[in-house]
Amino acid sequence: MKDPATAARAGAAPEPGAVDLGPKPRLGYAGSALDRAADRRLDPAFLQSAESAADAGAYAVAGDLVVMRKGAHGLDPLFAPAEARALAPVDEAVFLGLDEGRARFGLGIAAAAVDGLKARSDLQLADLRSIAVQGLVAPEHLPPLAEAKAMLQWHARHRFCANCGAPTLSVCAGWKRDCPACKAEHFPRTDPVVIMLAIDGDLCLLGRQTRFVPGMWSCLAGFVEPGETIEEAARREIREEAGVICGRIKYFASQPWPFPMSLMIGCHAEAIATEITVDRSELEDARWFSRREVAQMLAGRHPEKLATPPPVAIAHHIIRAWVEVGADVLR
Ligand SMILES: [Zn+2]
Repeated sequence: MKDPATAARAGAAPEPGAVDLGPKPRLGYAGSALDRAADRRLDPAFLQSAESAADAGAYAVAGDLVVMRKGAHGLDPLFAPAEARALAPVDEAVFLGLDEGRARFGLGIAAAAVDGLKARSDLQLADLRSIAVQGLVAPEHLPPLAEAKAMLQWHARHRFCANCGAPTLSVCAGWKRDCPACKAEHFPRTDPVVIMLAIDGDLCLLGRQTRFVPGMWSCLAGFVEPGETIEEAARREIREEAGVICGRIKYFASQPWPFPMSLMIGCHAEAIATEITVDRSELEDARWFSRREVAQMLAGRHPEKLATPPPVAIAHHIIRAWVEVGADVLR
């Protein structure tokens, strides 16, 4: 059997089975080791002693940016809570949970402090997407960072009561905002997004948004609308964006996506009418790709340098599952 790279150079695309995709990469932001310990959120004495414990840790987040300390072994996003609070004024605090009994917090740093922190030689600030894609921190930090960022962003956007407009107060260790004026309670939200790969046997449908880096193609995606099931949303998004009609929808996996606070619901979709009509307001382009072409894209061996999203994104895993088993992924 020809080596896949040699075959690609010779212009003969390898069969999917001949492409070594390597071990399955880790999905970003998923698989948190934290026990959220929700029963402790209403226990102020516990929370106070937990934050001052010697093994407590806090993530410092300023808007889209995560503060990290430069160390001999790379970047470390986990500070002692008192150390994190000394960095800058803290707008909001959230109890994230317990890591083998050690309390973890998310602290929202005032935006006005960002320039001062960026100027410090012992710190580095980066957005969470870059941190994940470039592997700037140990992977176990990504899920609690996603939790912290999504929660702190929710606080930043829900300072006033949606019912009466009065300022709201953070309670319950950051897991609720109460309105003292009208007594409404506001809970953190996660917005469901369907992200799906339409499949027609050994072909799959990929699209390009104008904001994508050159050469990157991905699954189609969109927000689930009120009154809709996941399956209905997946069929609607594919029909709206690409004109393709789908029947069977098979759930694959999900992923927290803290930009700002979504849950990506990954699916495979069986195409039953395959003619494409691209909605140019949503997509730059959409087309059918063969399984062996997509295998080259996943392996980074496409002759025209076309690529899929990186393993940090669930799209990579949805696409890879189909490349590995073909249309059987719908069973
Ligand atoms: Zn109110």
